[in-house]
Amino acid sequence: MLASMDALNRDFEHKTAQEIVDYFVKTMGQGVMLASSLGAEDQVLTHMAVNASPSVRIFVLDTGRLHPETYLVMAQTQKKYDIKHEIYFPNQDHVESMVREKGINLFYESIANRKECCNIRKVEPLKRALSTCTAWITGLRKSQGVTRTDMKVIEWDAAHNIIKINPLANWSEEEVWTYIKQNEIPYNTLHDQRYPSIGCAPCTRAVSPGEDVRAGRWWWETPDQKECGLHIKDGKIIHPTKDQK
Ligand code: SF4
Repeated sequence: MLASMDALNRDFEHKTAQEIVDYFVKTMGQGVMLASSLGAEDQVLTHMAVNASPSVRIFVLDTGRLHPETYLVMAQTQKKYDIKHEIYFPNQDHVESMVREKGINLFYESIANRKECCNIRKVEPLKRALSTCTAWITGLRKSQGVTRTDMKVIEWDAAHNIIKINPLANWSEEEVWTYIKQNEIPYNTLHDQRYPSIGCAPCTRAVSPGEDVRAGRWWWETPDQKECGLHIKDGKIIHPTKDQK
């Protein structure tokens, strides 16, 4: 599998992000899904994916704790592109028993509680979403952190046993915003309020100038404790972005 991944990466090394999206959406059809957190990179990819095919599958994990601004950009995106996101919610029974037993804001009380909440509200729904496809497209970029510097455009996602495609792997943050402005793509207005990375409302805050982009996520934890298990490579958890992730 790794050899074929290397060959694929050689093939796609000099392709544009739109060409990469076009190839996978057109050749894999309903077998490929774009994972969207409604963050800036995912909005760029939504624009490209709908350009490739209006019936492209785009899924969102609705944890039940997203910002109102995130729901607003979801609605704006559906209207602009005339699409319906595939929304995945957490298992109702699991959320009910967790909240009854540990409280609505359990994640502030311990790392274990926070991981339990992320597992129920994000990781399990992600697994369910990915079980319906053979490849997924993500908005990960190399320059988002040291853990991503060796990221490839095409990777084998061993955790989910499917192909993972990162068309924006080589893009800079500036390229993302230039593309959004040039194409008048709806975006989450929290980005204008110094939220580079947007997740659940209770677990995301604005960052100060010069602070790391990840500083606004689970800010009460130390950096090595911050993970939610959405992106795993070689057995290691890769920090997600904005994300939904
Ligand atoms: S980011 Fe916070 S609210 Fe969202 S699933 Fe994780 S712990 Fe729960």
